[in-house]
Parts: sequence; structure tokens; C-alpha cells
Amino acid sequence: MRRAISPWGDERELPAPFAAEGAELTLEGLSVRELAERFGTPLYVTSEARLRSNARRLRHAFETSWEPFRLLYAVKANNNPEIVRALRSEGCGADCSSPAEIEIARRAGVPASKILYTSVFPREDELAFAVRAGTAVNLDDPALLPRLLSHGTPRALSFRLNPGPTESGPEGLRFSGESKFGTKLSRALAAYRTARRSGIHELGMHTMPGSNILNPEHFRLVARFLGRSARVLRRATGASPSFLDMGGGLGVPYRSHELPLDLEAVARGVARELEGSVDRSCELWTEPGRYLMADTTVLLTRVTHRKEGRVPFVGVDAGMQTLLRPALYGAYHPMYAATQLGERPARPVHVVGPVCENTDVLARSRRLPALAAGDLLAIGNAGAYGFSMSSQYNTRPRPAEVLVRDGHAVLVRRRETLEDLWSHTGVWEPSPSELSRAAASAPGALAGPTGS
Ligand SMILES: *Cc1c(COP(=O)(O)O)cnc(C)c1O
Repeated sequence: MRRAISPWGDERELPAPFAAEGAELTLEGLSVRELAERFGTPLYVTSEARLRSNARRLRHAFETSWEPFRLLYAVKANNNPEIVRALRSEGCGADCSSPAEIEIARRAGVPASKILYTSVFPREDELAFAVRAGTAVNLDDPALLPRLLSHGTPRALSFRLNPGPTESGPEGLRFSGESKFGTKLSRALAAYRTARRSGIHELGMHTMPGSNILNPEHFRLVARFLGRSARVLRRATGASPSFLDMGGGLGVPYRSHELPLDLEAVARGVARELEGSVDRSCELWTEPGRYLMADTTVLLTRVTHRKEGRVPFVGVDAGMQTLLRPALYGAYHPMYAATQLGERPARPVHVVGPVCENTDVLARSRRLPALAAGDLLAIGNAGAYGFSMSSQYNTRPRPAEVLVRDGHAVLVRRRETLEDLWSHTGVWEPSPSELSRAAASAPGALAGPTGS
């Protein structure tokens, strides 16, 4: 018998197609215990069905309220090419934060016309790369425009506008007011004129004032700011933006008391604010990472040891090197004893990783069923900023990623081997041609798109 997972009322239900069968967590009928045995732990397991349904729900909500609408996936949430490819087939473009992400999107079949490069303090060769690749470019500072134009004319251009202090997400995810992101509109007006004179026809306005926001009102205020900015631009330059990009930031619930975002309310509120400020042909763009990815994935990790104490420590084989968010922001992730669903929780424990840092704590004072060495823990909402923030810190190979597609488990990123950790280190005495090859393949210095 499959049933929804709400094991002891404390943690959130995992979304379908995650389900409980007896005491075991399953995904499309596959037991996660068997996946852990087959592929090892720590292991990221993603539901492609959930990913696609997230994209469809989002598109439907917005397209009902505003067309033309464009959905871009923020690749930095998870850069696996199979994820980008699945989202492309759902009509998503890509929001990329580096040349390497542009390259991943291109190789996943996303056309350059549906790629936005959002640069933050870019290097010269990174700007050149985006212009050559033919992507739209989102600039963080109008003073970057002459540098960008020195490499050619981008297909489309926007400036990232900073609306000043607004409600920010939890966990210090704050991008407006006093932050390194964006520019005041008044500073960008002259640059919009220059851009138009340089023959860029598609001009847009972008903002991204927060992340993981669960209040629809936030997005209405974002749209009001964009609408007001569009009116100022028209008055100052006579030009209307051809797109308004409301950034990402659509939240997902992590804690049991949080409610899912009402997407219809978000889309309606946004459309209402845009009416009257821009004409109906203006495209609305949004570029979520978390909303599309977070709840598609669990991180499976095995208990290594339990150390008794006032609050016992349950050690697991994932840590801050696998899932950084708890250590980085104090983020909360729901946890499930993957083969003891329905068991009553025992006394609270700290769940900790194997890294030599005090911050390597995945959960503090969490009520879970009694866990012993060898037991399997599933950490929920691990799809966004999970693998993509992982590292090799303490010299630990990064984990594998499995995608469950049509009831089959597909290994879409193999686990790193020890050899992967050191194969490129040592005392190198490269020849000049090896050096230039290495420079050309550095993430910030891709030689440039070949073909298209
Ligand atoms: C990170 C980022 C996003 C995605 O943010 P979410 O909160 O995951 O939706 C979108 N746009 C830009 C420019 C970003 O930097």
C-alpha cells in the first residue's frame, strides 16, 4: 500500500511521486533503500516527474495571467545537463550565472535566444563569451555597458535594478538595499539610451530582491517596482522595455508550518501591477531555481555512528561538503528515517557530518525515530543548491546523482573517485601548448562557442 509520507506529523509531507510503502520511502515504486545499496551514499535522488510537474504548474499559473510569458531555469540551482534538458522539453530557457552554465544550457539544447546571462562582476572574457554565444545579457552596473559593447552587440540587454530595502527571504538571502547586486534606475537611464543607439532592440528591466519567498505580496511589489521603472524609462528615453524580468525567488516550504506559495495569486498580482504600466506585448520573464528543483530531490545518507550525550549526536556520511545550506545559512531541511517511516520519534538528536568544522551540523535537536549506525536518512528539499553547492572539502569525493525517469533509476552524475581528487595536482611542468589549452578550458575563459 502506497500512502503519502507524513510520518510523525513533525516534518512536511514529501510530494508525490515520493510515497511510503510500509515503513519504506519509495519513488515511483523504487525503494530508496535499494537505490542506496545499488549506488552508495551519500546519494542525491531526483524525481523527473516532479520536476516536470513543477514547471507545468508554474507555466500554467503565469500564462493564465500574462502572455507573452517566458520561464527561465536558474541553472545554478542544479547544473546537471539532464535536468536542464528535461526542463528545456517543458519549454524552459536558462538563466546562467557563468560561461560554463551557458555552455551546459547550449549543450542541453537550449537555443541562445532563450538564454540569459546574469553577470555579477564579470571578467572581460566572460562578457565576450556571452556576446559571441548570442545570449541576452543582464548587467549589474550601467558602467559595464561600454565594456560589453567593446565585444559586440548582445542580442538583448537588461539592467539588474535594485529596488532598495524590501522584504528579504529567510536565512539571509538578501539581494536588495545594501548588497553587491544591482543598480539604481536613475544611474541606468543614460545606459539604456546608449544601448538603443547601439542597435540593441530588445531592452529589458530585471530585478531580484530576494529568494525563497512564500508571500505572494512580495511578487506584487516586485511587479509594481518593474512597472514603475518601465514608466520612468519611457518618460526619460521614449523607449518601452520589451521584457520585464521579475527574477527568481519563488519559495518552497521547508518547515511543517509553512504553506506552499499560491502561484495563481502571485501571477494575478503581478499581472494586475503590470496592466497600465506596460503594453500587453511586453514579455514577462521569471527565472526560478528553487521552485523548480527543491522538492524534486532527497539526499540519502547513512548513519555512521551515534554518540550519546545530553543531546546525542547522530553522525551521517553526508555533511557540509554534500549539502552546504545548513552550515551556510542555518537552513532547515526536513528529514525522514527512510526505512522507519511511521515510527514514533525518540528524543531529539543533532545530525552531524564527517567534516572537521563546528558548523558541520545538518540538523539541531531534531526529533527522529531512534537511529543507529547503518540506518538510512532521507533529507528533503535537497534539489536546489544541494549538489551545486557541494565541495570536496576535507578531501571527500562529491556524491552521485540519480534521476528517476519513468520508473527507472538513471545515474546522471557518477560519484567522484579518489583519482578524480588528485589526478590534476602535482608539480606540473606544462609545455606552452598545454598551458594555453588549460587556459582555454578554464570556466571563465572558454575559448568561445564553436558552431551554434
Ligand atoms: C539565483 C538566481 C535566481 C534563482 O533564484 P531562486 O531563488 O532559486 O529562484 C534567479 N535569478 C538570478 C539572477 C539569480 O542569481
